[in-house]
Amino acid sequence: MAFRSALHRAGAAALSELLRFPVPARERGSLPCPCGQRADYQELRSGAVLTALGWVQMWRPYYLCPHCHSGQFPVDVELDVLNTEFSPGVRRMLALVGQEMPFRQGREQMKLRADLEVTAKSVERTAEALGADIGQRQQAQIQQALELNLPAPENQPIPILYVQMDGTGVPVVKKETDPRMNSGTCLLPATESRASSSETRRRFTMVNSRPTDGGWPTPRRSPVGQKCM
Ligand SMILES: [Zn+2]
Repeated sequence: MAFRSALHRAGAAALSELLRFPVPARERGSLPCPCGQRADYQELRSGAVLTALGWVQMWRPYYLCPHCHSGQFPVDVELDVLNTEFSPGVRRMLALVGQEMPFRQGREQMKLRADLEVTAKSVERTAEALGADIGQRQQAQIQQALELNLPAPENQPIPILYVQMDGTGVPVVKKETDPRMNSGTCLLPATESRASSSETRRRFTMVNSRPTDGGWPTPRRSPVGQKCM
């Protein structure tokens, strides 16, 4: 462990050297600002980031917009460390331990497995922030699906429309565990000899016989019955 810590310190020192960015060239003396004006280079500013190798110090250009007084660190955006003190790799570690165990234990695991000192609060905040981010992305996908404009049939009959349903356990007596067909319900044999339930799966076959007044197909159950799937 001591040897690992020594290697981490050496790696962090080397990484800090790599993260010393030079003063930008004249053509990079200003950048577009979201307000529509331009932000001017001010100076190199330091910042600390916890990486997989430990804490590193970086020096990067700072830009300030004289109109809206908003500051920018383009390097932070590039390295994905904007407004956070954790590198992307460490954030993934924090999220992983945060979802698997209590946050206090997550802090201990970070020390044991990665030799990184973090607080339980850091584990909590990072895991929750990542969870919120995932939730927002899922909501966006759901909303996108809801807003999907499917073309209406417009008097184009749908010959056959299949609707598939999942299976579920149904309590049965022993003689009913044999495969059989009835009323469109198929009982599959139980996998255990003394099982008291079978799985039923039901499939409806919808046939477009006559369009409704609105031009949509009229579903009815297929006369051919249902099959085990
Ligand atoms: Zn601005």
